[in-house]
Amino acid sequence: LMETMKGQEDVTLDGRHMMVYCNIGSPEDVAAVKSNDGQGIGLFRSEFLYLATSDYPTEEEQFKAYKDVAAAMDGKRVVIRTLDIGADKQVDYFEMQKEENPALGVRAIRICLNRPEVFRTQLRALYRASAYGKVAIMFPMITSVWEVRECKRACQKVMAELDAEGIPYRKDTEIGIMIETPASVFVAEELAREVDFFSVGTNDLTQYTLACDRQANDLGKFFDPHHPAVLRALKMATDAAHKAGIWIGICGELGADLSLLETFLAIGIDELSVSPSSVLPLRAEIRKSIAKTCTLEKLEC
Ligand code: PEP
Ligand code: MG
Repeated sequence: LMETMKGQEDVTLDGRHMMVYCNIGSPEDVAAVKSNDGQGIGLFRSEFLYLATSDYPTEEEQFKAYKDVAAAMDGKRVVIRTLDIGADKQVDYFEMQKEENPALGVRAIRICLNRPEVFRTQLRALYRASAYGKVAIMFPMITSVWEVRECKRACQKVMAELDAEGIPYRKDTEIGIMIETPASVFVAEELAREVDFFSVGTNDLTQYTLACDRQANDLGKFFDPHHPAVLRALKMATDAAHKAGIWIGICGELGADLSLLETFLAIGIDELSVSPSSVLPLRAEIRKSIAKTCTLEKLEC
């Protein structure tokens, strides 16, 4: 039945387009993106490179992985997220200090900003891969404008290096950030002026907004991604993005929740990045929807 959705546009009955992209965790997942007709990759988690080895992955190893995915996607956008370890994903050779609350500790972009050499190696690999497809770079766990500026400075430095070495890359490679902390929502207007796109990580955004550990199994109804606070955060981030003229997507699990599609359309979300198997069911639902009649009722308490 879903076969009939292949090759169809992701557009509502009244002509609103949605970008339906995929989340992947390794280059092998590209096959599923293609067979399910994903229009791009909205989240390529780069952790697999660091988790699979007993030492830091080299620039060459990373370059090959990013390049293979970028090339296989044939000019379609591939959003690659920089390292997001710490918290639930521990890597021994990083020799991180033991933390009482890893989810609130030195994770993701905090590690990269603390360890410029680790960050530089990944950014070099990413920029080099940008010559082979439409790569976009995304930074996780952002809370502040200064962090984004430091990330951009690190990108500028790497581009200058590549220029000096005569290595090709795309200067207009898009830079985006994940919106997955309450702080990033509150300063979203300023953040939006710094970057090309936002992507909301609803798994972490739910965790930090509701003060509910995403890995705890006993929170039951208290861990509620449909909570109006989470949905209002989505709307605030979307309004800020659009005010600055940039696009915003969702790459957390909530993006595939068909019961919220009308809410996402009402909020004005531009992109949903979901697991490859969710692409065609989502497309079918989008094509049955009428954006202009969608309401924000789920944002009410
Ligand atoms: C999220 O937090 O929603 C997200 C997409 O990132 P991860 O699940 O990898 O933390
Ligand atoms: Mg996250």
